[in-house]
Amino acid sequence: MIHKMPRGLPHDVMADMSALFFDEEVCTDWFIRHHYPAGPVCPDCGADISNPQALQSFWQLSRFTCPGCGSQPRATKGTLLEGASITPRQLIIICWMIALAADLTTIASTVGVTTETIRSWRDRLTEVAQ
Ligand SMILES: [Zn+2]
Repeated sequence: MIHKMPRGLPHDVMADMSALFFDEEVCTDWFIRHHYPAGPVCPDCGADISNPQALQSFWQLSRFTCPGCGSQPRATKGTLLEGASITPRQLIIICWMIALAADLTTIASTVGVTTETIRSWRDRLTEVAQ
């Protein structure tokens, strides 16, 4: 009889969690919908974004041209991710693991950034939450 090692234990789940269970598109969609609950609008003037090309850029977090004011913002303007070098997916994983009180080193290795980056985000998130 072959002895099988148990699979799917917490260590296995954590090792694959970041890559498999947090889809980039799902995370981006969630993050943006959270900031634009009434749908895509210009973060500068509030004009509705309905042009298909502008909408595509909006959801891809690329610059789009606002039909109302002519500015070329990204959907992340005015959000935690404005000017940030991490993706919505990485931010969601960071928030999730901070909420679970994971240590900074574990979060850093799961997200694929430095411990210093995680420390900086933790401080920023704490500050914003107050
Ligand atoms: Zn505008």
